[in-house]
Amino acid sequence: MAKIFCIANQKGGVGKTTTTVNLSAGLAKIGQRVLLVDLDPQGNATMGAGINKAKLRASVYEVLLGMSDVAAARLASEAGKFDVLPANRELAGAEVEMVELENREKRLKDALALVAAEYDFILIDCPPALSMLTLNGLCAAHGVIIPMQCEYYALEGLSDLVNTIKKVHANLNPELSIIGLLRVMFDPRMTLSQQVSTQLEQHFGDKVFKSIIPRNVRLAEAPSYGMPGVNFDVASKGAQAYIAFGTELVERIKSM
Ligand code: ATP
Ligand code: MG
Repeated sequence: MAKIFCIANQKGGVGKTTTTVNLSAGLAKIGQRVLLVDLDPQGNATMGAGINKAKLRASVYEVLLGMSDVAAARLASEAGKFDVLPANRELAGAEVEMVELENREKRLKDALALVAAEYDFILIDCPPALSMLTLNGLCAAHGVIIPMQCEYYALEGLSDLVNTIKKVHANLNPELSIIGLLRVMFDPRMTLSQQVSTQLEQHFGDKVFKSIIPRNVRLAEAPSYGMPGVNFDVASKGAQAYIAFGTELVERIKSM
């Protein structure tokens, strides 16, 4: 049965999508069966997996509104060797349209339950907001992976996210926990990066993953080729870091 993880941080541009796409590809490389769920109307994870978001038969939008199911809407990422439940701008409407539906925060959970046996991991790329879409992700998941940039403002807003996760845990999804904080876009030449990184370890101890994702231009270039960085240039430092992170994650959940 799949372990379901949200990649979440309500801050914009902190590396959620890059992490979701490359962790999916990294896990696929070590033999794991992965479904990536794009829960962001920007559709960046869909495009990063090499799928044209402008030409979708069905997407996560139809799935949330009960007009399609995951089995019909998912597509294969040829480049990344994982499956994708894609998204595009249409998803922005779901937020409002779901208001009238019963159990609206559990629509994704119910939809994923039907395919969970086919995967080892389901990774959900959340939008940069604590919205109804993110709430659907948190209700569907066993855990949250929080990408953090090691910069001065990194910790700001983290308490809002942690409080939201606590509330969801208490009221809606008792299975939910924080799996860990992942340091991304790390620049070893910057003293500040080192300092914030050390602070994170002191504050959060074991909850900080050992793997660190460096700032690496190959990861940033890969989406324009419709490929995860892990497949675009497997020898690059960024790709190797995400593959190592995949291995660390597999180990970590064995002990959960
Ligand atoms: P949003 O909140 O808009 O969804 P996000 O949190 O998903 O953003 P990304 O889209 O993954 O963030 O990353 C933001 C930008 O930083 C992108 O241009 C991406 O290519 C770049 N980026 C992410 N990680 C790295 C990295 N390790 N090295 C270099 N560039 C990176
Ligand atoms: Mg994103």
